[in-house]
Amino acid sequence: MYEGAIQDLIDELGRLPGVGPKSAQRIAFYVLSADPTDVKRLAAALQRVKEQVRFCTVCFNVAEAEKCRICRDPRRTDEIFCVVEEPKDVVAIERTREFRGRYHVLGGAISPLEGIGPDQLRIRELMGRLADGTVTEVILATDPNIEGDATAAYLSRFLKDMHLRVTRLASGLPVGGDLEYADEVTLGRAFAGRRNAGE
Ligand SMILES: [Zn+2]
Repeated sequence: MYEGAIQDLIDELGRLPGVGPKSAQRIAFYVLSADPTDVKRLAAALQRVKEQVRFCTVCFNVAEAEKCRICRDPRRTDEIFCVVEEPKDVVAIERTREFRGRYHVLGGAISPLEGIGPDQLRIRELMGRLADGTVTEVILATDPNIEGDATAAYLSRFLKDMHLRVTRLASGLPVGGDLEYADEVTLGRAFAGRRNAGE
């Protein structure tokens, strides 16, 4: 369509999730007309996210140090774990202010269609963290969709004999969606009303 740099930018933007060709074009022309300082700040933010952000070595949330902010917080309890699919789910649950325990980020959900099985998720690492017996409850907060349900079912079977309470979020979340799309009141309510898995 266009030549040179502007087309390159449209192509790159068009590869981003949720950005269609029209949005890519709109953003590219916005960048073209924007203040050079703003554009520099955007470019720097893009670069910094790859250079500075890494995954927490304990829970696999995003972090800027070896441990994430939540794992470093001494005021949180070590006795309750909340298992989620992605770091963005940690943010969604933190927003509800219902949870003061620790997280474990699986890195996805079981999805035969995409070739993701239990071995691709950080389940072994979860088992390692549960081994010392400190944890008394594991909350399975996977997405309310087919993959999330399959993952929670797999995990609850896996955790069954470990002498801890395994719970799932109460129903009421928008079915088929991502945890992050639930508003914080609904998610908070689902969290507070969690029930034993398999019931
Ligand atoms: Zn962490």
